[in-house]
Amino acid sequence: MKRLCVYCGSSPGNDPKFIEAAKSLGRRLAAGNIELVYGGADIGIMGTIANSVLANGGKVTGVIPKALCVKEVAHQSLTSLEVVEDMHERKARMSSLSDGFITLPGGLGTLEELFEMLTWSQLGFHRKPIGLLNIDGYFDGLLDFLDNSVRAGFVKEIHQSLLLVGNDPEELLSSMACYQSPIIDKWTSTDQAI
Ligand code: AMP
Repeated sequence: MKRLCVYCGSSPGNDPKFIEAAKSLGRRLAAGNIELVYGGADIGIMGTIANSVLANGGKVTGVIPKALCVKEVAHQSLTSLEVVEDMHERKARMSSLSDGFITLPGGLGTLEELFEMLTWSQLGFHRKPIGLLNIDGYFDGLLDFLDNSVRAGFVKEIHQSLLLVGNDPEELLSSMACYQSPIIDKWTSTDQAI
């Protein structure tokens, strides 16, 4: 994986563990020569991970819609900052630039981005690994909800398994590096590993 997209909060959260996790992932990306692709903001967990990658000698590409350049404080010191027309272009560009996706703690925007990548994968529009860094159990409730969705018959187990969950960057990056995308047909039961 040469470039990884990280989705995370535009807020810092109220537990320093979230900031620490972003710094740690940033250090790990820089050390592994993996470029960070993210939303281009200089605030919250988003700014923290970008600054951590840069401070450790890594590369960062930000993609931000022009309407958010002021609100989300576009980062001025990135390796590259792409200013795009709108949210849809931002997400499509971040996706096409990246070899995989990691979600750190965040809010509604973060969840929306994570689930968009999961649904695109479920439909076979991409076959890239999707990781969730479950810092301090932040996503436990979401993972329980996904279990419930499988039990209730709305999500297939093979689609649930598209989400790789880890508690620390090293563990998650290893499972993403070994990831083999299943061949998925959402509407039949012919799912198989490739
Ligand atoms: P949040 O997790 O709400 O702090 O947002 C994290 C990032 O997700 C921010 O850069 C938001 O602009 C972005 N985002 C992406 N898609 C959406 C969306 N549909 N609604 C709100 N924010 C979004």
